Amino acid sequence: MSLVTTKEMFEKAYNGGYAIGAFNVDNVDIMQGVIAAAVKTRSPVIIAISGGALKYMHPAYARHAALAAAEECDIPIALHLDHGKSVDLCKQCVDNGFTSVMIDASAYDFETNIAMTREVVEYAHARGVVVEGELGAIAGIEDDVVVDDKYGSFTHPDDAVEFVRRTGIDSLAIAIGTAHGAYKFKPGQKPQLRFDILQEISAKLPEFPIVLHGASSVPRDRLDTFNRYGGQLPDAIGIPEEMLRQAASMSVCKINVGSDIRICYFGEIRKMCALKPNKFEGREYLEPARTAVEEMVTYKIEKVFGSAGKA
Ligand SMILES: [Zn+2]
Repeated sequence: MSLVTTKEMFEKAYNGGYAIGAFNVDNVDIMQGVIAAAVKTRSPVIIAISGGALKYMHPAYARHAALAAAEECDIPIALHLDHGKSVDLCKQCVDNGFTSVMIDASAYDFETNIAMTREVVEYAHARGVVVEGELGAIAGIEDDVVVDDKYGSFTHPDDAVEFVRRTGIDSLAIAIGTAHGAYKFKPGQKPQLRFDILQEISAKLPEFPIVLHGASSVPRDRLDTFNRYGGQLPDAIGIPEEMLRQAASMSVCKINVGSDIRICYFGEIRKMCALKPNKFEGREYLEPARTAVEEMVTYKIEKVFGSAGKA
C-alpha cells in the first residue's frame, strides 16, 4: 500500500465514533514499534513527526522509513508533520512526500493565523496533501488561566467556524483543557476537559474532524519504570483514559500521543542499561524499548481510541 492522507480515515472515524492515534516518532525504531502495533490491531495509523524530529531524522530518511512501512503493510498509514511552525516547513514537507501537514500558527493573532494557514492549504491541496490547523492556546502547566468568560482561553466556537471557513483546512486542533507534555496540572488540580465546548463546536461544524493535542495519559507503570532506573520525573497526572474515550466517541478523530511514547521508550532503555550493564550491542537495549512502544500503542488503539479492526 502507499501512504494515504487522513481524509478517508477521518470520515470513517467520525461516523464510527472512534479516533485515530497520531504517534510522535523520533527515530525509525519508534516508528517500527508504532507500525507493528497498528498492523497487529488492524488499525489505521498516523506517523507524526515534529519539526525537531524531522531535523534529527533527516527528511529523506523519515520519508523512506514511512514508505518502507507502507510497502510492508496493508493498513492505511499517513505521514504527518506535527506542529509545523512556519509556512516554509509545511511546504517543504508537502514536497517531501508527507500526506498531511499541520500548520501551527496559533501563537499569532487570529488574522495572521488565518493568512498563514490559508497559504499552506492552497499549496498542500494543489498537491493532494491535507492540512490541520490550530486555534486557541493548548496550555502548559505554567500558564495561569484567567477565565473571564464561559470560554476563557479555550477555543471559541464562533471563531472555529470562521477559521475553518476562511482557511479551508481539513481538520482543526482545538483547546478544551488538554496540555502538552507529561505535566498538565498543578498538584491537587483535577483534569477537566470542556466537553460542552467540544459539543458546541461540533454542532456548528457538522462532520468536521476535530484534533486533540496534549492528550497523553502518562501510564503509571511506565513512569515508575523510568524512575526506578535512575529517572527523576516527578509524579504526573495525565488526561484520564475515560475522557479520551468520550472525546473519541464525539467529533474528535485524531488524538496525539507524544509524551507517553517517550516515557515508555526511554524508561525501557534505562531499565535495560541498568539490568545489562556490560552489554554494548545497541539491540540489547533498543529492541525491548521498541517492544514497549508497541505494547503501549496496542493498548491505546484497542482500549482507548477504538480504532482496532478499522483498517
Ligand atoms: Zn501538539
